Amino acid sequence: MRIGLIQVMQETCSFNPTPTTLGDFASFGIHRGADVLERSDTAGPIAGYLEGLRLSGLAVDTVPIVRGTAQSGGRLTREAFEHFDTVIREGLTAAGELDGVVMLLHGAASADGIDDVEGALLATARSVIGPDVPLALMLDHHANVTRAIVDHADLLMGFRTQPHDQLETARDLTLLAIRLAAREIAPTTSWRKLRMLTHQEQYLTVRGPMKVLFDRARAMEGDPRVLTVSPFPMQCWLDADEAGWAVVVVTDDDPQLADRLADELAELAWSMRDEFQVTESVSVDEAVRLADADTGTGTDKARPTLLSDTGDSVLGGSGGDSTVILEAILRLGIEGRALVPMIDPVSAVELAAAGVGATVTLAIGGRSTPLFRPLEVTGVVRAVGDGLADADDLPQGRINMGRCAAFDVGPVTLLVTEFAGAAGIHPASYRHLGVEPGDHRMIVMKTASNFQYMAPLTTTFIRVATPGPTQSDLAALPWERAPRPIFPLDPTPSWRG
Ligand SMILES: [Zn+2]
Repeated sequence: MRIGLIQVMQETCSFNPTPTTLGDFASFGIHRGADVLERSDTAGPIAGYLEGLRLSGLAVDTVPIVRGTAQSGGRLTREAFEHFDTVIREGLTAAGELDGVVMLLHGAASADGIDDVEGALLATARSVIGPDVPLALMLDHHANVTRAIVDHADLLMGFRTQPHDQLETARDLTLLAIRLAAREIAPTTSWRKLRMLTHQEQYLTVRGPMKVLFDRARAMEGDPRVLTVSPFPMQCWLDADEAGWAVVVVTDDDPQLADRLADELAELAWSMRDEFQVTESVSVDEAVRLADADTGTGTDKARPTLLSDTGDSVLGGSGGDSTVILEAILRLGIEGRALVPMIDPVSAVELAAAGVGATVTLAIGGRSTPLFRPLEVTGVVRAVGDGLADADDLPQGRINMGRCAAFDVGPVTLLVTEFAGAAGIHPASYRHLGVEPGDHRMIVMKTASNFQYMAPLTTTFIRVATPGPTQSDLAALPWERAPRPIFPLDPTPSWRG
């Protein structure tokens, strides 16, 4: 059995005007041919694919085509899109006869002039392999599932958890893909699109309405006729022409059952639409004061408080250079020490060039979007580095921050980086520069959900109501392309479009 393997993943935030370039993919690593498997990720989809092959016990001949991922961000440049489109076309053409194709995509990528990147890449793949070679597709559960995606994939599975189970989903998809390539199953798909967007504060699948929904999907999979059930609470900052939630149910040749379950799951999601809109975030000044006041009890040393910068979530596609929380920390004169990541190539290069011990005054941050403002600060360069750190537990297996510096400004140590890297959500980002995150009273996190890497240090976190391309107030963003009416932007009578 010969299976073609393709991974291209990026999550687009339409409200971040800074484009995602081929260089951004290169900073994570673009691999082709045999390199895709030889330099496999350690906790990501490729590792999951390989585990699926092992569990199948079959001798599968993998034809690796390409693996490219980038941090979430603005739309892909045309060059970046065309690179992957061309590599997929050429790679599948050169592959010759295949029994199946496994594509590991995100599902919420847009490019310059293309709202639905995954639909376009799938169309390209399908145009080469023809209608009869089975194509199994993994998507992030923040995918925007479009008509083109459903039409081109024979089998479709989304992540089951937030934070995401990338390895496990790819493993389970691969096991189904092998059965599909062997013609042991006959998948039939029901897809329901919902006129609904929901912000990030209720994304976690371990609690609240998202848990109810995902638990129901897992229960549906208890029926042996059901192959896979995927709710898709779309990435809420994707302003695309088919934007909105979706649910997908795949059964083994039972279209009536797939239809019934897809309707039930869509109704369940819609019935909880108000619960998904509940916000928990607190004002910037209040959050900083609360974190600073948490000095522990008795002889217990205080553990850091994580401050989630909701409006500047790099993992949601923002630029990572908001100065809003930094400004508040400096203005409020806090007692404890704080860590703040700052993705700012201009400042990173300047600080690295100034060198350790230099006192530097510069306008930092606020470059990625007009929504953010630079802040003039004076500080001392504590450390500089090449920005490469191992992190086996990250899907990409490593962190590449480019040139970077630890920059002390009053009570704050800024992690100023050239590339997005892991956006400071992983302790290895700081330890690379000799900074121990556990020694700080507060750590600003450029994510709304991915706190798991800091969990060994602390489980205390506060969502901060900050403005930006990934803010929770969706109605205040400049929507142009999403279908209307759509909940909660408009009065919307039904989930059906
Ligand atoms: Zn996601």
